[in-house]
Amino acid sequence: MSLLAEDTEVADLGLRWKTGFANLGPAFFTELRPTPLPDPYWVGRSDAVARELGLPPGWHESTNTLAALTGSMPIAGTQPFATVYSGHQFGVWAGQLGDGRAIMIGEADIASETGSEGGLEVQFKGAGRTPYSRGGDGRAVLRSSIREFLCSEAMHGLGIPTTRALCVTGSDARVRREELESAAVVTRVAPSFIRFGHFEHFAANQREDELRSLADYVIDRYYPACRTTERFNGNAYAAFLEAVSERTAALLAQWQAVGFCHGVMNTDNMSILGLTIDYGPFQFLDGFDPRHICNHSDTSGRYAFNQQPNVAYWNLFCLAQALLPLIGDQEVAVAALESYKTVFPHAFEGRMRAKLGLADAAEGDRALIEGVLKLLAAGKVDYTIFWRRLSHHMADGNAEPVRDLFPDREGFDAWLLLFSERHAAAGRAQAADLMLKSNPKFVLRNHLGQQAIEASQLKDHAGVATLLALLEAPFDEHPGCDAYAGFPPDWASTIEISCSS
Ligand code: AMP
Ligand code: MG
Repeated sequence: MSLLAEDTEVADLGLRWKTGFANLGPAFFTELRPTPLPDPYWVGRSDAVARELGLPPGWHESTNTLAALTGSMPIAGTQPFATVYSGHQFGVWAGQLGDGRAIMIGEADIASETGSEGGLEVQFKGAGRTPYSRGGDGRAVLRSSIREFLCSEAMHGLGIPTTRALCVTGSDARVRREELESAAVVTRVAPSFIRFGHFEHFAANQREDELRSLADYVIDRYYPACRTTERFNGNAYAAFLEAVSERTAALLAQWQAVGFCHGVMNTDNMSILGLTIDYGPFQFLDGFDPRHICNHSDTSGRYAFNQQPNVAYWNLFCLAQALLPLIGDQEVAVAALESYKTVFPHAFEGRMRAKLGLADAAEGDRALIEGVLKLLAAGKVDYTIFWRRLSHHMADGNAEPVRDLFPDREGFDAWLLLFSERHAAAGRAQAADLMLKSNPKFVLRNHLGQQAIEASQLKDHAGVATLLALLEAPFDEHPGCDAYAGFPPDWASTIEISCSS
């Protein structure tokens, strides 16, 4: 019997739904309903994501839609569920976790938008308890929901693979964290929300049939090239592990290049598609500190900024272990992981070269990159502002604004000389163009998010919309908005972001 049978009223979002993940069967999820939040209101919306989903114009105008997106009204054609996964948290096996507060509404069929087989899964984060909530309340607070919404769209604006967010809906219902806060729901959107932890779950429970079904599903839908590869003697599961390793390496290269610290790189927060997923205590670096720890709960610094590439590899190793029964040979699994070690440095150097305005590689580039990172770290120079000013210097020839950022002027001058020599042969205008497209003017700094959050908590949501508009196009100048591109105020360093969300 359909879960919807007893309802008289359902919301029709105007989407067509297809069955994707749900085809895997009941071993993978539990059907349930979101728990309604009273008196919902809009906090933020992304028109770009609405368009990707193929939502009709004016989609948000109906009160039914608002009710539906806070779990108060079922959505026609959907049968929501929560999925089960496990994982390693802070390096330790944590056993079963699962969607404790995220509820999968369904997969929107976007074939007509993309002309492909594509679909986009829609999830409500903070929509109430599930069988996987353990001690949690199934809710998400407004503060963390705004951060996730804005950062998803900021990452997309930066060209970094990520889950997306359609909207945040809020309610005055109270949720207890360190103090009482108001509740919210983020409507997240991604081709798939499958994590490394989904594979670890079935491997740890020695359920090889389910493990194989899951791998086959992911390969057929998202990695079809693994079926026809000649690598690893046609071992599709090894090819799959290699492909995930490569996507993860490419993702980490982008995080490191832009100065993004995730904060909780547990294996259950690692997307099988190489997307940035589960925005919690993340931070874009202000002053460049390679050892920066953005998660107040991470006392040992396991997830410090400069540890992220190694942690990703460690997490891939966990995935490899989970896939071992399918791959069949430990040496083959290790060989499949190896790609990470070549793809990451290659991709990272490529990203850094673009930041330096270099369209092609030359000997000495690595020294140039390492040299500037060392200077930035020594002076704790603002990472985003440095790169943007360096880009403008390339365009107008004025080195003073960049130079002013460094306590060690002589050190910087020596580096700038090498940098200028490297560019002497190439066209500076072209380089400046590349740099301005590679070095964002706007990133979601903690204090910017914080200001928007504090206003939203007082029912003024305009700041969320303003930030969204800037972060969707972070390489544009946005005249009149320089205040959002400036140095962080002193109080920014006192913001403490923990796992509490
Ligand atoms: P996270 O640290 O946000 O990745 O969450 C780790 C695990 O805890 C996942 O299984 C989440 O679903 C679950 N979780 C986090 N917060 C809550 C909450 N408020 N209620 C229920 N489950 C939660
Ligand atoms: Mg998580």
